[in-house]
Amino acid sequence: MYTLFRTTFGEVQRSRNPKEVVIRNRSGSPAIVALLTVVLAVATSCTAVPDAGLLQAAELSRYAVLIVEVIANAPGYTSEEEIPNESITLLNNTQTDIDLVGVTISDEHGSWTIPSSVGDTILEPGEKWTVTGSTYNPSKDCFNAICLRNKGECLTLSYGARELDRWCYPQSGVQGETLRRLNLPAQVVTTSDLSIAFWGAAREVQGSCYQISVGETDILVDCGSFMNSGEYDDQVFEFAPSEIDGVIITHSHADHYGRLHYLFHQGYQGTVYMTEVTAELYLARLDDTIYYSSIPGNEKESVETAIRKSIHEVEYCSPVTVSAGITATFFNAGHIPGSASISLNIEADGEAYSVLFSGDIGPGYHPFLDPPDYAFMSQDDATVLVIESTYGDTVRDTSDGPYDAFWTGLAIAIEETELVVIPALSLDRTQRVLAAIGEGMEEGQLPPDLGIVVGGKSSCYLTEKYVEFQRSAQLASASLERRYRPYFSDEFWAESYLWPCFWTYTRGTNCKGWEDCDADFKNEYDIVVAPPGFGDSSLSKHLIERYVSDPDVAFVKVSWAPDDSPMGQLALVQGQPNATITIEGTTYPVEARLVSVSEAFSGHADQDGLVQYASALPHIDTIVITHGEYSSMLALKSRLSAELDGLEIVVPEYGKAILLGGSEDYAGV
Ligand SMILES: [Zn+2]
Repeated sequence: MYTLFRTTFGEVQRSRNPKEVVIRNRSGSPAIVALLTVVLAVATSCTAVPDAGLLQAAELSRYAVLIVEVIANAPGYTSEEEIPNESITLLNNTQTDIDLVGVTISDEHGSWTIPSSVGDTILEPGEKWTVTGSTYNPSKDCFNAICLRNKGECLTLSYGARELDRWCYPQSGVQGETLRRLNLPAQVVTTSDLSIAFWGAAREVQGSCYQISVGETDILVDCGSFMNSGEYDDQVFEFAPSEIDGVIITHSHADHYGRLHYLFHQGYQGTVYMTEVTAELYLARLDDTIYYSSIPGNEKESVETAIRKSIHEVEYCSPVTVSAGITATFFNAGHIPGSASISLNIEADGEAYSVLFSGDIGPGYHPFLDPPDYAFMSQDDATVLVIESTYGDTVRDTSDGPYDAFWTGLAIAIEETELVVIPALSLDRTQRVLAAIGEGMEEGQLPPDLGIVVGGKSSCYLTEKYVEFQRSAQLASASLERRYRPYFSDEFWAESYLWPCFWTYTRGTNCKGWEDCDADFKNEYDIVVAPPGFGDSSLSKHLIERYVSDPDVAFVKVSWAPDDSPMGQLALVQGQPNATITIEGTTYPVEARLVSVSEAFSGHADQDGLVQYASALPHIDTIVITHGEYSSMLALKSRLSAELDGLEIVVPEYGKAILLGGSEDYAGV
């Protein structure tokens, strides 16, 4: 048994045919296609040492392949993915040499990719090496950046790592012994097939980032943050940012754009395409995003300048050329203002592909937005759909009206407590909550003249941005209205509760951010809307710590939250006697009340909505499910399989790719 790992520069893809492994060059130049590497590391490297004879017995010798044997005497190496050696063949047909790129090894701390050359230094086969921690991380009591110490130099292993935690090595000085390589006659095929690699939102919600590769061209759809979700690092890219030719951002949520500044910092110099409203919402927070990033202080300004210059604003339904042969058309996804699904049309070597990326799909009853543009979709040529699945396992019942439960719960909380705290995302959720409160007050569902304050700098900025959009229409400026009208519903523009509602609240005297957290909220206000929705940072965390043990305070949960977040914990212990929650090691008795109405404000389609979306494409034959918990993905897959005949449905893992065209469809997932 051997262990097959992803290569440093290339991707190793397993096809549906278990006897085939497709290798694609990510180095970008056919002249150096020889940089392709297959790494066959020894699964139990402490003892087993394969030799050429064994490999030939596996019928590998008739193909071009670089075999790297790792004989490590550090204990504990385990295999990540075991593939019987007889099932491995390589698709190759061009004579060339293949050189050593690197070797990936795996132990209980994760996988490491060790490059064969770093700068001018080449690791020779047979050399001794030592893994050495170079950057000590006191909070984790380990070393983050691993370097390979060779001839006294520290060769930092800066690429190929998925995230810092996996590099967190408890000690320096682990000894390795031998790198040995074996060159066999080489046959490598270059292909103009289209591939889509998944660098996030793969069997998880966070980190949307899809790399579309065709010929010499690579573009990204989304470049989202993992939001500290644990497994991956926002600063580590497994492709070269400088070699990306264009970036498309679907909407202004950080899990779709939140790695963009690191992409620029690490060499990206191209254009970023997004709608005008997405650009405005993104840029409203860009200085904060960069300020709080780990980009060195003296480089922050140049990164921000480069990003601002790079943005190309696009309109819904107007095709834009992203790179030679690649055209993108954005259309309304109904998720948040400016949000788009992307229809990509790609031509390469006479082949035409049409792939649709859903981005996040709205629920269809958003008060500010129209539903997804099904009319556009009904005319689209896409045969492949990459679809989100956040609520792929949920069917909602909104037959009572979306806000009835919210108003009822809030009215009781206002009546029976002195302060209501509503943790909410800064963008869109805060504004929707405000609008719902405003509507409830107008319709007599809530007491009139409630004292409401929005906390948090970004919540206030963004709320004012909504006011600005709306004011553009109210000022009857034809040009402004033409700019913004396509992004909002008629209801948003109407003379309605939204306008005074936002205006009044955003001008609240304490609308400065959580530095005002010592305000006497209980005596000054009836309701505080505070970011973020999880309650795990910023003002909402402070308010939970301050008031969770106060029976005169109520918390209203208006969004999904992870079970271990403060709001998630509150939901779990709701109604239990002697309940407690723990925030950063401190335990708090729960005396405050909880009202949970998250369904009312979801920005995502439920399972019915996702099926409706997929069904709107007339030519679809393949669906790729991303951006959801794995259980949601499987639930959606099974529903789609039952309702739409003859579809190929795949659920890719992180780092895997699908390959379209030729005979290797859907390799790797
Ligand atoms: Zn989103």
